[in-house]
Amino acid sequence: MTTTIRPTIRFSDRVEAMQESPTLAVLNRATALIGQGVDIVDFGPGEPDFRTPPAVSEAGKTAIDLGYTKYTNASGLKALREAIAARYNTRYHLNLKQDQVIAGSWGKQELFNVMLALLAPGDEVIIPSPYWVSFPDQVEFAGGKAVFARTTVENHFRPTMSAIEAVATERTRGVILNSPNNPTGAVIREAELAKIVEWCASRDAFLVFDETYELFVYDGNEHASAAKWLEEYPETVIIVNSMSKTFSMTGWRLGYAIAHPQIISALGKIQRHSTSNPSTIAQHAALKALAGVDEDVQQMYAAYRDRRAWLVPALAALPGICCADPDGAFYVFPDVSAHFGKGPITDSQSFADFLLDEARVAVVPGAGFGAEAFVRISYATSIGRLHEGVRRIDAALRTL
Ligand code: PLP
Repeated sequence: MTTTIRPTIRFSDRVEAMQESPTLAVLNRATALIGQGVDIVDFGPGEPDFRTPPAVSEAGKTAIDLGYTKYTNASGLKALREAIAARYNTRYHLNLKQDQVIAGSWGKQELFNVMLALLAPGDEVIIPSPYWVSFPDQVEFAGGKAVFARTTVENHFRPTMSAIEAVATERTRGVILNSPNNPTGAVIREAELAKIVEWCASRDAFLVFDETYELFVYDGNEHASAAKWLEEYPETVIIVNSMSKTFSMTGWRLGYAIAHPQIISALGKIQRHSTSNPSTIAQHAALKALAGVDEDVQQMYAAYRDRRAWLVPALAALPGICCADPDGAFYVFPDVSAHFGKGPITDSQSFADFLLDEARVAVVPGAGFGAEAFVRISYATSIGRLHEGVRRIDAALRTL
């Protein structure tokens, strides 16, 4: 009998270096349990629990009926790029043209492409920590090095100039800010943002400003956007945004970037050779969303605001949970480290496992966000499920 030698599957160093998303790991386990019929209260989701506004869905259906089902320009429909420019022009008194805007298949894609377009091997990119899980991997995939600038609970996790400056080196090529922040909810103050924009410009560094959660800001906090400086520092400021959260359109997959025409052109080149245009149907739906579905958006906002108002004090009242007020987004990021060392709990992952096993509640461990003492709780779920989830967590923690 002959023995066959099986060929080896070999992966690139780039892929080997990528981390498995911890957000997905917990969601996968929770989903498997739900599939087995277990009643899980799911605080994992990073997406709105609302339907896409009906007028937007209708626009998508109409696009199909009208035959808008072919390729478009790889950088998106001219009308869509103009509508995005117009939205920012109205909001921030700018004079953006469509060649400063690119529509892509999702916000994540634009963030990824910016790193591919701008980084040389070994370039350092400063990311305030805790951070959204994908930022470091995107930087490293593009050959750069992620460098973390600490934020503190005492300062509501808001990024500061001094923390960024403290980790800067001669290899610093750029900074990524995400405000409102996933996972902490932190919203950067305008005065601090102004300092960071000017600092980046003075060092010839780029500033990627991810404002995916721009509308979800509460309690008198105000969203400060780096878009305000797009005209003063056109080579520096790169805005990334998405239709996903604001318009509850996560599955439609549409995001965009606004930047200097040369940067937009480089992003277009990458898109032409990778994904081509974002879904034509989604682009037509997005045009409708941008034309105004204010009432739907306001209703979603009001629901998040009311849930947050109930949830934050309810979590803070639980044994061993230390919960700072998040400024925005739809996440709470409590410190749970008082429970480390009790029973099976040693870190954020085993804390999340404990809650899934004992309380049948899914939360996301902070480790993947660069914050081992914390877990992320999403309130993109109904107030009834929030009540039930907190009740279950309370009962489980009291057994420790
Ligand atoms: N940026 C942040 C901070 C996010 O949390 C997300 C999604 O979770 C995105 C960008 C990307 O959104 P999408 O790819 O759905 O446009």
